[in-house]
Amino acid sequence: MNFLFDTSIDVNRRQFYVLAMGSCIGNLAGFIGNALIFGWNGTTIFCGICMLLMAAGSFIGIKKGQIRYASYLMIAVLSLVEFPILYYIYQTGTIVYMVLAMVAIAIFIPTGNAIRFAGIVIVADVAAVILAYMRPLESEKLSKEVVLQSTLCSLLIVLLCVFLISILLQMQRQRQEEEVKKLNEQLKDAADKDALTGLYNRRYLNQYLGELILDEKEEFDAVLIDLDFFKHVNDNYGHGFGDIILVEFARLLTKHVKNKGIAVRFGGEEFMLVLKGMNTDEIGKMLEHIRREYKEYTKHEKNIECSFSSGVQHYTEGIAVTVLYRLADEKLYTAKERGRNQDVFDLES
Ligand code: GH3
Ligand code: MG
Ligand code: MG
Repeated sequence: MNFLFDTSIDVNRRQFYVLAMGSCIGNLAGFIGNALIFGWNGTTIFCGICMLLMAAGSFIGIKKGQIRYASYLMIAVLSLVEFPILYYIYQTGTIVYMVLAMVAIAIFIPTGNAIRFAGIVIVADVAAVILAYMRPLESEKLSKEVVLQSTLCSLLIVLLCVFLISILLQMQRQRQEEEVKKLNEQLKDAADKDALTGLYNRRYLNQYLGELILDEKEEFDAVLIDLDFFKHVNDNYGHGFGDIILVEFARLLTKHVKNKGIAVRFGGEEFMLVLKGMNTDEIGKMLEHIRREYKEYTKHEKNIECSFSSGVQHYTEGIAVTVLYRLADEKLYTAKERGRNQDVFDLES
């Protein structure tokens, strides 16, 4: 059954599997039912021929890939030939097959054609009902037991088919919904995050800060971080290793920031942390932890002691985001000027 929900298979193909399965199983059941109840009479042979046509349609659709033609062929045989004739022969309960055919037309045939197709089928069905009333078959004098058996048989086949089709389509819809949800999340991730490090990007940062400022509930700090002498790292150990360091540094930032705010790749080897509700002391300690772990990592990997510098700017009400960035950048610049490997909170001190 899994092939029905394999999302790598085109949706039209999956729908055709439902039609092929439903019609083959339904016809097989009808054929066996007829054979058991009536033996090898004309109707049983007729049901057998219809069953073979369903099998041929399924083959054309699945093996030859002619899904469209196969769907039309199968539904035409069912709705215009098999069901009206079965009704003409048995009447009573076999009318439920006509309902089943309408369900199949609505589901498996494209809407425009389905309307025309349904119109023709309704005419054929009504004609079969009127004909059965005006000129009933004389040869088939059905006993009450046979009518009951035939009605029960038809009812069960149709109930099972409708139920199976509905369940399968419902499951398919759910799968598709999940896929769309997953794709949307991936799309959102791609729009909000940096491809190399997985950190948030500047687009998301601007949006995040905009919302934070509007909210006015929490105080926050922006920490602009720049890795020291990163060009040397690239020059000496290759751009590939430079990338690996950026990914590891991003991991450290995420680990330490946790739920206190967000970590962002600001560009190149620059990062920004937005930290909510933390005092200067706490921020200083956090940066020292990151500094120590970063140094330990590069020492362990290449026996070098890499560092970073940062500028920490507290957000004061009323300043624009661009001003916040500039003030943090001025402090970062000062940290570089003062010899790197340090954090500047205050330009004066
Ligand atoms: P400073 O201490 O003054 O910041 O020195 P620096 O060498 O870090 O600064 P500079 O701005 O001269 O060089 C930054 C380097 O960062 C140059 C650039 O090649 C490298 N870089 C930027 N983005 C990436 C990246 O995605 N991957 C790698 N491997 N390197 C990058
Ligand atoms: Mg830089
Ligand atoms: Mg740098």
